[in-house]
Amino acid sequence: MNIKKIGSFLAEERKAKNLTQAALAQKLYVSEKTISKWENGRSLPDTSLLLVLCSVFDVSLNELLSGERLKKNDYTEYKVNAEDNMAKLLAQRKNNKHKILFSALCFTATYSVMLIFILLSAFFALPSWLKISLISYGFLLTLFGLAIAVFYDINTGSFECKYCGKKFIPTAKAYCLGYHTFRKRRLKCPYCGKTSMCRKTLQNQDE
Ligand SMILES: [Zn+2]
Repeated sequence: MNIKKIGSFLAEERKAKNLTQAALAQKLYVSEKTISKWENGRSLPDTSLLLVLCSVFDVSLNELLSGERLKKNDYTEYKVNAEDNMAKLLAQRKNNKHKILFSALCFTATYSVMLIFILLSAFFALPSWLKISLISYGFLLTLFGLAIAVFYDINTGSFECKYCGKKFIPTAKAYCLGYHTFRKRRLKCPYCGKTSMCRKTLQNQDE
């Protein structure tokens, strides 16, 4: 998979469809900078956007990832290309998926343990020293679990600035303080200095 070649292919196909970078950006709900980064081969579109691009440009995913229109009658070459592309794409995402799963697991496990400790001390007549130790132990454990979960989540992919389209990894402090939804987090961009709801992408900074 050659990111530079894919980029030039995207630019060619966009021009063939008579679309400006701005028009394409609007169609995909991304910034113009993002489009130009793809076309310059500085990053690969998110997996979810790859399929949208295929339908906009009327090419197959295999062609897009090969960075060229492929002759369908040369079936062997076509198939080898497809399998190679898929394998590379999957390998790229797999590592990040594992980290996210692990992070979610940490959250769930620590919250469950804390809940059990609190329920134990609420419903059973335990001596107060035991209650206090159970609750403090549960609290500490939760903090520890949260720290691990946050560490893994920060190091999985990066956040994309809504204004300049650059990807960055926030500091742990900014990450924890930022208001967030499932895929977006309010962060200050280190490149342009603007604060926005930044979208989380699974791609790493320099991929
Ligand atoms: Zn920015």
